[in-house]
Amino acid sequence: TSQLMAGKRGLIMGLANDKSIAWGIARALSDAGAELAFSYQGDALKKRVDPLAASLGSALVLPCDVGDEASIDALFDSLKAEWGTMDFIVHAIGFSDKNELRGRYVDTSRQNFLTSMDISVFSFTAVVKRAAAMMTEGGSALTLTYYGAEKVMPHYNVMGVAKAALEASVRYMAEDLGKDGIRVNAISAGTIKTLAASGIGDFRLIMKWNEYNAPLRRTVTQEEVGKSALYLLSDLGSAVTGEVLHVDAGYHVVGMKAVDAPDV
Ligand code: NAD
Repeated sequence: TSQLMAGKRGLIMGLANDKSIAWGIARALSDAGAELAFSYQGDALKKRVDPLAASLGSALVLPCDVGDEASIDALFDSLKAEWGTMDFIVHAIGFSDKNELRGRYVDTSRQNFLTSMDISVFSFTAVVKRAAAMMTEGGSALTLTYYGAEKVMPHYNVMGVAKAALEASVRYMAEDLGKDGIRVNAISAGTIKTLAASGIGDFRLIMKWNEYNAPLRRTVTQEEVGKSALYLLSDLGSAVTGEVLHVDAGYHVVGMKAVDAPDV
């Protein structure tokens, strides 16, 4: 994979620490020769993101709160001044009030519904629009989703509804931007222990359940999500758009796995 991303430049959004899915993706892209910029949310994360970015030879580390249009504009103004054009964007951002990532979906508040949709769904559309304007030679955009968009998972609640909308937005943008040679895809990642995931009720049990029931009988790593991201963001995925690629050890195909059960 050493030359796959040579000469390509792109933005990674959603790096919080070295457990972030964004970090697995950034490393895979960097190993393949990509030049990266990073955006982070809030000053508290800057001191974590700076050294990670530096370790991949990237000095372009910019603040961006995707809940704020002016902040998104400022990010892309800086990128445009620095690079002029770009080739790819990775959106690894999601947010919901963790008090509502337990209990019942039906109890979701209006305010948290709107916030979850804003930060976890609309933000992808908002940043892809601006990135696409810089993708003069075509490009590729990627977001992260979860199986809770398709089927009910315990405690995922409003995030499941948000991820369903995010997956639909991938399809609509794939059509909007396809004629400009810009591809838009999502990876539906299996459970990985990250900062965001630790906000979900019973997350350890859900990890165990995946290990027990997935065809590969295990969970997935950041590195594995990174490799699939490289496929979708590079020329290897040149005819793939509007797709939701499951990188989940096969969990999504199982209705019921085979077990040694007593005669029934
Ligand atoms: P993470 O906590 O490392 O990353 C989440 C990121 O979202 C953080 O960097 C945070 O700063 C950013 N963010 C939240 N609100 C923001 C805002 N207003 N402006 C800018 N950034 C903001 O956790 P992660 O698990 O790596 O999450 C990345 C993506 O992967 C999310 O979309 C998540 O839903 C998705 N995902 C995670 C899993 C899992 O099991 N960890 C599985 C499938 C999908």
